[in-house]
Formats: sequence, structure tokens, C-alpha cells
Amino acid sequence: MITVQKIFEARDQIKDIVKETPIFQSTLLSDLAGNKLFFKAEHLQRTGSFKIRGATNKVMHVAKNGATFVTAASSGNHGQAVAYISNKVGIKATIVVPEDAISSKIKAIQAYHGSIETCGTTSAERLPRAKQLANENEGVFIPPYDDPYIIAGQGTIGLEILEQLDSVDVIVVPIGGGGLISGILSAIKEVKPSIQIIGVEPETANDTLLSLKKGEIVAIQQTKTIADGLRTSQPGSFTFPIVQKYIDDIVTVSEQEIQDALFLMLERTKQIIEPSSATTVAAVLNDKLNVRDKNIVCVLSGGNVDVRTLSSFFNR
Ligand SMILES: *Cc1c(COP(=O)(O)O)cnc(C)c1O
Repeated sequence: MITVQKIFEARDQIKDIVKETPIFQSTLLSDLAGNKLFFKAEHLQRTGSFKIRGATNKVMHVAKNGATFVTAASSGNHGQAVAYISNKVGIKATIVVPEDAISSKIKAIQAYHGSIETCGTTSAERLPRAKQLANENEGVFIPPYDDPYIIAGQGTIGLEILEQLDSVDVIVVPIGGGGLISGILSAIKEVKPSIQIIGVEPETANDTLLSLKKGEIVAIQQTKTIADGLRTSQPGSFTFPIVQKYIDDIVTVSEQEIQDALFLMLERTKQIIEPSSATTVAAVLNDKLNVRDKNIVCVLSGGNVDVRTLSSFFNR
């Protein structure tokens, strides 16, 4: 378990790097949802997603303990975040990416001076390689979610929501490996347990829902959901007990619901969010939560979607 104290320490550690992101409202979407909707805008966060919070907390911790080299296995938001913060604190980072990673993502990592190594096409290939690279070079492997420092960093979003919106009733959070939601649960549930915290997974990536039902960690086959930040095949050994202890509910959304929510956000609020973020909007718009007249915060976890990918959704 992660104490609220650890999350305050994380906030202090990351305060010079991470932005306090705004919360905005939409009357039109609120009317459609039958609830008052608020959006926590992590798509406007440095590096384009919340991942910079946990990555900064962890990398600054290991750098203070003398590390001069770190690795990560992700072509997505975690890889960008680790490259960004490593460059900021002056240590080297190698990011292991799949052979078929799209070039815009590789360019983003390189723009933050991260070195790239390609390896296979699955996380089962990339993860051991990133760990091995760290071992061979006296470096530290930075995990994407299953780590107390990462979870505490993501939890700082929970502290901000409590301060920014006193009257919040429900918080809706996307679930990949569970670092984001377990951080938010840890920040809020010991302080204000009456706030409902609801997780969202794509129908095809429902590993945490299945694990909760079974009462133990269940792994699923890798999926192809458009929510690429949520393709993780199982919850983590640190994250899952936290989710199990505190979560109020998990709901799932279809690929079509995710896409429709993403378009609606673009048209009505002029915000570009990535599919993983759109899952929370999809859940409230399709009435998956079964609540009325509540103040609901949807966590918009990131905005990194390239224009070509977006236009391919439009043409489907
Ligand atoms: C990583 C990620 C998630 C899921 O976070 P977990 O900590 O793995 O549950 C959600 N949205 C975006 C944009 C992400 O990058």
C-alpha cells in the first residue's frame, strides 16, 4: 500500500517538472451525460500525458541514489516521459521500442535525447531486453506502472483533484497496468472514502476486471484496442492489491464507443485527446456508471495521438 504521505513526498519531488493541469467543464457534454462533467486535463501535461509524474518521481529518486543510466521498454508515453526527465536531470536513458514503432513516437523520444534500441514486436521481448541493458551497464530499469514511486507520482493527480474541485462525487480513470488508478485511489480513499472511483477498460483489454472477479491476477492475450495505452495484459503485483482494496467499480467500453467519444471531444470541446483518455468520456456518455446529477471528473490521461492515426479513425 502507498500512504498519502508518500504521495505528498512525490509531489514535492516532482514540483519543478510537472504542471498542475487545469480542470475544465463542458455544458453540452454534461447535458448529454445527465451529470455535471469535469475533465482533468493531463493531455496538456508536459510530454503529453500523466506518465511524466511517476517517471519523474522514480528517475529523480534513483538519480539521487547515484544512478547515471536508466532504461525503459515503451515506445509510448512512458518511454517519452523517461527520456524527458532523464535528460532534465542529466543522466542517460535507453528506451527499448518495438521494431514496428511508428516514427513520430521514436522522434519524440529522440527529441528528448533518449537513445533508441529496437527489439522484437511484443512486450515479452522488450521487457527482458530493457532489464538486461540496465543490468549490464549498472543502470536502473524504470517500470511503467508496477512500482511504489511510479504509483505515488501518478497519485499526485488525486491530490490536485481534491484541491481543485471540492464537490467531486465520482472520478473516472482509465486502467492499463493500474499505476494511474492505484495512485489516485491511494491519494483519495483514506482521506475521502465517499468519493467514488471507477475504472474503465476497453472490452477487449479487461484484464483488471477479470482479475477482480477471480480475486487474483489474471493475464489475457495481448489485444489490439485503439486505446494503445491500455493494452497491458495483466495488472501489476503492486497495483492490483491497491485496486482490490479501494476501487468502487470497473466498467468496459467498446472500440466504437471510444472512437465516438474521441470525436465528440474534438468537435465540442476542441480538445485533442488520445483513445486511452477517451475511454473515460465514453463510459459517462454511454451511461455505464448508472448515476445522475453527480459531479464527475473524467481523467483525460493523455493527448498523444498522431494526426495520421486520427484520420484513419475518421475514415473507418
Ligand atoms: C499508460 C496510460 C494509461 C494507463 O495507465 P496505467 O498506469 O498503466 O493504468 C492511460 N492513459 C494513457 C494516455 C497512458 O499513457
